[in-house]
Amino acid sequence: MAKDFLKETKDRYDIIVIGSGLAGLTSANVLAKAGYSVLLLEHHYQLGGMATWFKRKGGHIFDISLHGFPVGMIKSCRKYWTPEIAESIVQLKGIRFENPQFSLRTTFDRKDFTRLITEEFNVPFETVDGFFAASRKMNFFDDQEMTTGELFEKFFPGRSDVVRLLMEPITYANGSTLEDPAITYGIVFSNFMSKGVFTFRGGTDALVNKMKAELIKNGVDIRIRALVEQIEVDKDRKVKAVHVNGKRIECGAVMSNANIKSTILKLVGEENLDSDYVEEAKAVRLNNSSCQVYIGLKPGESFDNCGDLLFHSEHEGFDIESILSKDISSRTFSFYYPETRPGSDRSLIVSSTNARYKDWADLPEEQYKADKEHLCRTTIDCLEKYIPDVRQKIDWVEASTPRTFEHYTRHIHGSSFGTKFEGLKVSQELPEQVGGLFHAGSVGIIMSGWLGAVNYGVIVSNEVDKYLTPSSAAM
Ligand SMILES: Cc1cc2nc3c(=O)[nH]c(=O)nc-3n(C[C@H](O)[C@H](O)[C@H](O)COP(=O)(O)OP(=O)(O)OC[C@H]3O[C@@H](n4cnc5c(N)ncnc54)[C@H](O)[C@@H]3O)c2cc1C
Repeated sequence: MAKDFLKETKDRYDIIVIGSGLAGLTSANVLAKAGYSVLLLEHHYQLGGMATWFKRKGGHIFDISLHGFPVGMIKSCRKYWTPEIAESIVQLKGIRFENPQFSLRTTFDRKDFTRLITEEFNVPFETVDGFFAASRKMNFFDDQEMTTGELFEKFFPGRSDVVRLLMEPITYANGSTLEDPAITYGIVFSNFMSKGVFTFRGGTDALVNKMKAELIKNGVDIRIRALVEQIEVDKDRKVKAVHVNGKRIECGAVMSNANIKSTILKLVGEENLDSDYVEEAKAVRLNNSSCQVYIGLKPGESFDNCGDLLFHSEHEGFDIESILSKDISSRTFSFYYPETRPGSDRSLIVSSTNARYKDWADLPEEQYKADKEHLCRTTIDCLEKYIPDVRQKIDWVEASTPRTFEHYTRHIHGSSFGTKFEGLKVSQELPEQVGGLFHAGSVGIIMSGWLGAVNYGVIVSNEVDKYLTPSSAAM
């Protein structure tokens, strides 16, 4: 008989959280700590959403999205998770760029970038300082008209090398382009520049397992393999229940961490929403997806330090079409040394590229398999430039594509970084459409990434708290 993953759930919870991405996990934790009964429903067999990992024969553990996040994660984890989680966050100091325009290493912070742009790129200090100040000052209430391209043109006209240095890592980190509002760039770039790039020592599995232990301690009822099919709304347009694996469970509020478009168009349904809001939701553009190649070395095999993150590109200047092309000319390599998981003897490499869903979606199975093999082969060819004898040391290689991300996270078109900027407004206005229905998760570029997702989970939890207990102060 099929296992009942919803065995002995209660008939009603104060809050049902749909999805266990970092926003969903954080929201469940914050709300449970505030004393609410919380049910967390995740369709996958593992918690974490995009913050995930997988194991392969021979003891390899591959991280999917543990490449780097800003220092703010330490504060957020200390405040909304545990000191122990915060204390495992460490800096990655070896950020490297290799492209036809420049070859350099940096700690990826304001001080080092100022040095590089003034000394290596010969831009006056006042210009660089002005750029940093302008980026830092941007916030949600600023003019949202200026694009990132216009921001660069203002400070660094005609300097495609400087634009590449400033833009390429952020495009890899969140899919943003020169056409996106400058505010999305300014916030994310400044977050990184404040202290550099950080990672979680112990790997994503250690992080998510620590989060799971904390959720259990705080009384969250966690259910995996639980696919939510519907959010039930009553005639007064208030959230009433959730339908999951064919079972109906009542609740006072729902916090959806599923893709914003799926939440609105599939789980709630157009009939329960204003038609202009539905049109706005339909018009929200998804962000791009990704391809990755996971390379595990034989036990005990290693390589000379190549840096931690290497932005490799073969094309001239910053070029979004080339970055997204299936004909790959740019890759971000994450090098994982045994210290990543203390006690392990494994060295691993994960290569990530931004990708378009349509390039992979409809390939016949044979072609899909062949294209994945091509992706693995050409990635190793490229990697040989940095680790010449890597081929002989490899024990495991496999690739993922936008189809993989779609399958595991149910994001439409396997979108890696949620939606473009307009998704944020639609996400924030959801509770005005349906009482007690909230959304937190990757939207609007600034709310994506590990830090963005955690912080958005907290912001929305405060709104849920105010809805359920109007007299409560902010958490
Ligand atoms: C290849 C790649 C590399 C990345 N690298 C980095 C990086 O280095 N640094 C960084 O900061 N960020 C990185 N990111 C982005 C980051 O991982 C995500 O922005 C963040 O983890 C998203 O969190 P989220 O809360 O929005 O939810 P998601 O991770 O999108 O999770 C949503 C969850 O909801 C579940 N769900 C959806 N629908 C349902 C349903 N109907 N019923 C039940 N469950 C459902 C899904 O299964 C999933 O678990 C990367 C992403 C990718 C894909």
